[in-house]
Amino acid sequence: MTFTGINLGAPIEHRHTCSRAGCRDEAVWALLWRNPKIHTADRKKTWLACGEHRDVLASFLSDRSFPLEIVTVGELDE
Ligand SMILES: [Zn+2]
Repeated sequence: MTFTGINLGAPIEHRHTCSRAGCRDEAVWALLWRNPKIHTADRKKTWLACGEHRDVLASFLSDRSFPLEIVTVGELDE
């Protein structure tokens, strides 16, 4: 069985960890986005971001004109 998680092999140090490559900080933001070309309207991808990387990840998505919604991780329904 193969897993392709971003933090594969890394110890789980936080309940939510930043999705930015190489960052192990605790995420406080959740970026909900989709690529309209490959995702249907009811599909959303979720990236998690620490305070430092929220803007980096958000501008990556907004540069591509992807629909984006930013909430706190506390607002995620899990
Ligand atoms: Zn980060």
